[in-house]
Amino acid sequence: MGGRGTNGFLLKNFVFVVMAHNHMASSTHPNAPCAACKFLRRKCIQGCVFSPYFPPEDPIKFTNVHKIFGASNVSKLLNEIAPHQREDAVNSLAYEAEARLKDPVYGCVGAISVLQRQVLRLQKELDATNADLIRFSSNQNMLTMPQSSENYPQTPHALPPDYNTYSWNYDP
Ligand SMILES: [Zn+2]
Repeated sequence: MGGRGTNGFLLKNFVFVVMAHNHMASSTHPNAPCAACKFLRRKCIQGCVFSPYFPPEDPIKFTNVHKIFGASNVSKLLNEIAPHQREDAVNSLAYEAEARLKDPVYGCVGAISVLQRQVLRLQKELDATNADLIRFSSNQNMLTMPQSSENYPQTPHALPPDYNTYSWNYDP
């Protein structure tokens, strides 16, 4: 039983080592130019600013970014920011470029405004549901504890003005 567990552990480690080896073999191959240099038909020299972020396995990432921002602008931008922030910068450029290609008018602003409207709608729904809960629990208290005025919630008059439009039919 203990042996089986050990074998499972060894197998997992073996798979991890093989995967890590394959990954290193593909991304540090000395003859494979990065996606940017391949697209721009130039020699991918050691220290190429694009090479860590545009692997040859993902050519679309570079072509999108190049179409929208232009390779020289991206290269300038990468040289202006700290190396530890370059990966995040490239990923956000790739996201923005893809969104702009899909939606030439609004780009990622389209997605942002859809999400903002969704947040507003859900916030209104949540406020209305909370108002219903307060109203429902105050009705319950009146039915079950008519003598104890201390248990009545103090807030019904503080409900949002639009709560009536959302109210459920709890009234008998
Ligand atoms: Zn390169």
